[in-house]
Amino acid sequence: MIDLRSDTVTKPTPAMRDAMLRAEVGDDVFGEDPTVNALEEKLAALFGHEAALFCSSGTQTNQIAINVHTRPGDEVLCEEGAHVYRYEGGGMMANSGCSVKHLPADRGRFTAAAVHAGINDRSAAYLANSKLVVIENTVNRGGGAIWDIAEAKLIRSACDRHNLILHLDGARIFNAMAVDGTAPADWGALFHSVSICLSKGLGAPVGSVLTGSKSFIHHARRVRKRFGGGMRQAGILAAAGLYAIEHNVARLKDDHARARRIGEALATAPWCARVFPVETNIVIYDLIEGMDANTHVDRLKHHGIICFAIGPAQVRMVTHLDVNDDDIDRTITALMSIRS
Ligand SMILES: *Cc1c(COP(=O)(O)O)cnc(C)c1O
Repeated sequence: MIDLRSDTVTKPTPAMRDAMLRAEVGDDVFGEDPTVNALEEKLAALFGHEAALFCSSGTQTNQIAINVHTRPGDEVLCEEGAHVYRYEGGGMMANSGCSVKHLPADRGRFTAAAVHAGINDRSAAYLANSKLVVIENTVNRGGGAIWDIAEAKLIRSACDRHNLILHLDGARIFNAMAVDGTAPADWGALFHSVSICLSKGLGAPVGSVLTGSKSFIHHARRVRKRFGGGMRQAGILAAAGLYAIEHNVARLKDDHARARRIGEALATAPWCARVFPVETNIVIYDLIEGMDANTHVDRLKHHGIICFAIGPAQVRMVTHLDVNDDDIDRTITALMSIRS
């Protein structure tokens, strides 16, 4: 089976497992795990932030960040398809008691003008207190769309003018940087906090890292404990993350080239109504009227290709570390064999 459901399905390689096996460990709740500390220091330094916190998942880093940045009744501004809103179990409402305002966006990317228009009048006691803006880069539901850093800069200025906090859900920020040549510190400079996933395209089995100021991370560490995320000899997991950062960043462009090949093939298929522009490792496409995404996905499964229906007529494929050029050839052959 060629598994294109997600870039989370990768399995640790022998070299990564070896790094995990050799990891020096300690009790991280006491701050004594040298490998966790090394990973946190490495990512904080890369993103130009004072401190970092190793967490179990990207949901956890996002949810901790939202909890630290807000108080119950505050409003979070994000896009409708944002992971923090849509795929985190209702967390920002349940964990932090926040309301949400959806900003209009182009494949998940909104503008500084949209942020400006979305801020509630602070003098109106009957309105929720606008507090936090969340940007997702790359945008998962937008087909791996990349943010223009210039727009993010304008949004940060708007946030500064209106006393808003800006969080980056950078689950796939390394995919974005592999394309536009921006550096981690460029993004770190614009955001009060950044969440980075190690278990997506970077291929680690577990883990995400949250970066920010010393006081933010101090508070985040307490919230992580409160949310049940204090891990003990977590260096075994952090070692995989360190290995991923050292070895699996440069190769992300291979995933992007493979996704692009799938996108180009889809564009020639008569049953494909639209392919989102393929910017990184995610391919989203719409089927023509009368076709059902679940049936289409079942048909692909018979050809040994697994992917997700993400709407009644919408399908997603994601390339990653565990698919190679031959797998892409087979995927394209299977797609081209489909008539309708
Ligand atoms: C995957 C993902 C996350 C985190 O997901 P976990 O499965 O909890 O690690 C956060 N944001 C985006 C955009 C994602 O794609």
